Amino acid sequence: MSGTAKHESDTDTDTPVGYGYCAWHHRVASGVRLIQIEDGGSGPSTMGNKFACHSCRQAYDLVPLADRPL
Ligand SMILES: [Zn+2]
Repeated sequence: MSGTAKHESDTDTDTPVGYGYCAWHHRVASGVRLIQIEDGGSGPSTMGNKFACHSCRQAYDLVPLADRPL
C-alpha cells in the first residue's frame, strides 16, 4: 500500500472572506471578518456586529466571532 499523502487545500481561513466595510478604520477592505461587539455598560446589553479587516483585528486584538470558543 503506497500512501500518497495528499494535502487538502491549504487554506488558513475556514470562513469565506470578502470585501466589506471595516468599522474600525472606516473603509472598505478585503478579508473582513465579523466581530461581535459587546457594549459593556449599564442597562440592557447592547450587542452589535461589525466587520473588521485583518489589520484592525491585529491592531485592536479583535477575535472574529467564528473563532471564538463557545
Ligand atoms: Zn480596518
